[in-house]
Amino acid sequence: MTASAEQHPVDTSATDVLVTAREQVLGRGEGLSEQQVLAVLQLGDERLEELLALAHEVRMRWCGPEVEVEGIVSVKTGGCPEDCHFCSQSGRFESPVRAVWLDIPGLVEAAKQTAATGATEFCIVAAVRGPDARLLSQVKAGIEAIRAEPQTRDINVACSLGMLTSTQVDELAAMGVHRYNHNLETARSYFPSVVTTHTWEQRWETLRMVRDAGMEVCCGGILGMGETAAQRAEFAAQLASLEPDEVPMNFLIPQPGTPYADHEVLEGAEALKTVAAFRLALPRTVLRFAGGRELTLGDLGAEQGMLGGVNAIIVGNYLTNLGRPAQQDLDMLAELQMPIKALNRTL
Ligand code: SF4
Repeated sequence: MTASAEQHPVDTSATDVLVTAREQVLGRGEGLSEQQVLAVLQLGDERLEELLALAHEVRMRWCGPEVEVEGIVSVKTGGCPEDCHFCSQSGRFESPVRAVWLDIPGLVEAAKQTAATGATEFCIVAAVRGPDARLLSQVKAGIEAIRAEPQTRDINVACSLGMLTSTQVDELAAMGVHRYNHNLETARSYFPSVVTTHTWEQRWETLRMVRDAGMEVCCGGILGMGETAAQRAEFAAQLASLEPDEVPMNFLIPQPGTPYADHEVLEGAEALKTVAAFRLALPRTVLRFAGGRELTLGDLGAEQGMLGGVNAIIVGNYLTNLGRPAQQDLDMLAELQMPIKALNRTL
């Protein structure tokens, strides 16, 4: 117990984890441990407001008021050989998404639309186990075309192309890809229930190589896939040990045709509580709202999240689900007086 808590005993039970978090995370910038995250996740809904307020303070103190805005485009949609149970892009399920390739002009157009929103990040995504030579050469040509356009030449290009070999990691680094996204999706202990065609450890290995090659690491997951609170806490601790530059938080959208088609959508308060707990585990990370927030949280929830630890958003459409219009999000940020992060690094 802290000296101040000794003088002003607040509550000896659930309150303590937030008292400790205030000192440890807000004061010293040290993220919560797995056990502490679990204690936060077990707080009652009546503590939600207090928790969100603390997560917001932590974000403002250790990350600042700026919001990182990102657009994403899929160069290859659907037809993936893997069996991630949440994913409508798996070719193994009867989901309506079928394999489609985007050409270079389409890619450049998407980058232009993203840049026009003021976004600093543009992420090229493909639904694959890992890239083959054809995909990598298309990505290379796409990045060159983006760099050749005055409106898009300065935007940071990220990629999300599945598991990589060390040679492919080097190739992407040489293309100027500054950040690589590869989600661990869920806790190590729960992963085998979600994916059977590859392992959590294989994903971890790609992330390690990306980090070693000097690219920024973007790694997050999906909440609401049937994992327990303890597994959410485990996942937060595993992400913290990876020290990612960015963590995208998705909420499960039960996709028709997938094994998770009938899953219940995560309850809004639960989603906000989890995001705030992840902020307390990862005080300095870019924590991004990604897919599923509209369904889980509704329009108001986006704002609550931005005031509850989140400091980055994806604007516009996601990969297979329509997001809300980019302008709506940009208006929200203006209302909250949160500036969009400016481009501040040279590739
Ligand atoms: S590897 Fe990616 S695209 Fe393929 S099924 Fe899994 S999540 Fe979907």
